[in-house]
Amino acid sequence: MHYRPLGTTSLQVSKICLGTMTWGEQNTEAEAHEQLDRAIAAGVNFIDAAEMYPVPPKPETQGLTEQYLGSWLKQQPRREDLVIASKVVGRSDMKHLRGGPRLNAAQIKEACEASLKRLQTDYIDLYQIHWPERKTNYFGRLGYEHQGDDGAISIEETLKACEDLVKEGKVRYLGISNETPWGMHEYLRLSEQQNLPRIQSIQNPYNLLNRTFEVGLAEMAIRENAGLLAYSPLGFGVLSGKYLNQAQPEGARLTLYQRFQRYTSALAEETTARYVQLAKDWNLDPAQMALAFVNDRPFVTSNIIGATRMDQLESNLASAELQLPQELLEAIEAIHLQQPNPCP
Ligand code: NAP
Repeated sequence: MHYRPLGTTSLQVSKICLGTMTWGEQNTEAEAHEQLDRAIAAGVNFIDAAEMYPVPPKPETQGLTEQYLGSWLKQQPRREDLVIASKVVGRSDMKHLRGGPRLNAAQIKEACEASLKRLQTDYIDLYQIHWPERKTNYFGRLGYEHQGDDGAISIEETLKACEDLVKEGKVRYLGISNETPWGMHEYLRLSEQQNLPRIQSIQNPYNLLNRTFEVGLAEMAIRENAGLLAYSPLGFGVLSGKYLNQAQPEGARLTLYQRFQRYTSALAEETTARYVQLAKDWNLDPAQMALAFVNDRPFVTSNIIGATRMDQLESNLASAELQLPQELLEAIEAIHLQQPNPCP
């Protein structure tokens, strides 16, 4: 396993981060703990959770993911060796969370306290804003319709609330997620001008079917030293090729939850088939090829993998050792140029 600095902090995080959002829905507590033990044994020190998880979000399961991570964390002799990330939900109509989440000071404090309790720890290493308050382009929204401030809590208020958490020692570092170049710039500008804590990472989707991060954010990530924590590196499992030809593998995410549409268009299938064939031509497992591609992009700090089974986890962890040859990278680029971002 390789480790990279988390932004400008002294923390070193593994280039594979363990995602958790299936715990409490597709995975039990015992399975979550088994995944954690295996990932740590492979050198992973970075774990990504959220107050909202598991996914899909439901009132009756909300918080289970952090709870399962917490019951494991409590048993670990060296908490200080682990980098635990969580998130506060952005503006939403999820009434079961504080009557409808807003990124104001009172709600952020309440959310963080509740996460700390579930996680059974005194501090969260990386506390991330899950998505913005303002209406803008995230979760695949295309075009751009400017809606002014639309009554949104300002980034300044959000950042100042997070500063209080840092001062109180409840949070070490801050990150953003599902953000745009303007949002990222605004966080950085405010911290510089008002001496507020700096964001150290941006967690956005990034995979062979969606490389939109490269357009406006990759340069920001490198120049500003706040790297990408890439989520959905397999496009919800699609890039493994297991859904090709209308297959509906039993127990798999897109078989279970048909409302998830981001990676299921005809163009996604066609493009996936090309990447899967390319992997086979190189005697590679398609999922491992897709993960290895993400692992080593220069603007990526860590690749957040997800697994529901131990064989998937094993294979995904092993991608850390796979280095794609230049000729293969060029072939990937050729497909990308013909079919760029079918699942933005
Ligand atoms: P992903 O890599 O795109 O999909 C992971 C899923 O694909 C697994 O749960 C599994 O589901 C399937 N899979 C995994 N490895 C496989 C393999 N080798 N072969 C075949 N199928 C495989 O990642 P993701 O789960 O969407 O996201 C990973 C993590 O990123 C999450 O846990 C979460 O921590 C974070 N995330 C953050 C956001 C955000 O808004 N910030 C959004 C999404 C995710 P099945 O077994 O059900 O097929």
